[in-house]
Amino acid sequence: MDALYLIKIGEILLKLGNRKEFVDRLRSDLNKRLESAGIPRKIEVFPGRYFATVPEERAAETELILSRTPGVNGYARATKTQKTVEAVLAASVEVAGSRIAAGKRSFKAESRRSDKSFPLGSFELSARIGQVVLEAFPESRVDLHRPEFTINAEIRERAYVFGDPEPGLRGLPAGSGGKGLLLLSGGIDSPVAGYMMARRGLALEAVYFHAYPYTSMEAQAKVVSLAKVVASFTGALSLWIVPFTETQLKIKKDAREDLTTLMMRAAMMRAAHLLAVRVGANCLVTGESLGQVSSQTAENLRLTQSLSDFPVLRPLVGMDKEDTILLAKKIGSFDISILPYEDCCVLFSPKHPLLKAKLERERASYEALGLEPLIADALQKAERIVLR
Ligand code: ATP
Ligand code: MG
Repeated sequence: MDALYLIKIGEILLKLGNRKEFVDRLRSDLNKRLESAGIPRKIEVFPGRYFATVPEERAAETELILSRTPGVNGYARATKTQKTVEAVLAASVEVAGSRIAAGKRSFKAESRRSDKSFPLGSFELSARIGQVVLEAFPESRVDLHRPEFTINAEIRERAYVFGDPEPGLRGLPAGSGGKGLLLLSGGIDSPVAGYMMARRGLALEAVYFHAYPYTSMEAQAKVVSLAKVVASFTGALSLWIVPFTETQLKIKKDAREDLTTLMMRAAMMRAAHLLAVRVGANCLVTGESLGQVSSQTAENLRLTQSLSDFPVLRPLVGMDKEDTILLAKKIGSFDISILPYEDCCVLFSPKHPLLKAKLERERASYEALGLEPLIADALQKAERIVLR
């Protein structure tokens, strides 16, 4: 037996000029995700709707994939029937039966008829569905305002009946916004930032700056686990691990103490910029949030930003930490992020960090460190892990 899913799309429909590009992207992305999970599939695209057919025993995995694919607004297990009133009513009773068996009672029927040759209009069809369901299940009742379940019938190129769609990620299909390089640390914020930009249609690669042995191999393993969470939303993801110990030690040795964190952030931004150029990304993504730590004041962001002329996207910039934590829990990164391996070593953190960098002055301090050769060397030695 096969399982059929009706897939609703949202924002893509608003794209007028290049809608076809978005539609094709989502189709090929869904195809790729199911393929990389080894799920045999058929994907069909009709105006405003996609349909995916997969083997019944792969239904649960398919649902997980559909729930994490940007551009999918919602999806529902659907029954395809003949385009006759009898067949649609029979399928409706079946859909209602499974909901009633699960203890639900109140329902409403919603119909959409785009094929005008079908003998009943939308309103009449909904009324007939209500009637046959009430007859088949006397314990059920109609509630148009707050139903416990909905029976949907769509009469289009074929007829489909389905229950309440599960919510999708919404947003835009992967890659429609180009490619970004995510600065991924072991913290709570950056995986959430990656998730948010993936929803906006940004394909991602990720970079982690590792300062072994000052940061442990466990810290690195944690970042790999976080990258997997991000990959479940982006599709496959390359994680670049850049050995940053030499650069950090040089900063520790030569930078003024109150500037060490800021200089390290600047060096990361510079290295990320060069890596972005190398991998063909057109923007950088960080988990920075205004005022969260000393390196995230507007003045200090101005300094770090000056090391890259790519847009630095900071989707959390105006978010409250509590809200970020809720999102981290929702996407499944929180429990990994709070594992005890710190990614930021006390050795490198000044007691009284500078809060308000002056661009020219601090930029000069940065240049004086002469980090370019160390950064180039670190990028040379970067290791790439592909996560699916
Ligand atoms: P997070 O929770 O994401 O670690 P944070 O509040 O700890 O953020 P910082 O440590 O100042 O803030 O880092 C700010 C941003 O810089 C991070 O969100 C991340 O994008 C990037 N970043 C920090 N450390 C690293 C690292 N070791 N490798 C890659 N990116 C990093
Ligand atoms: Mg951090």
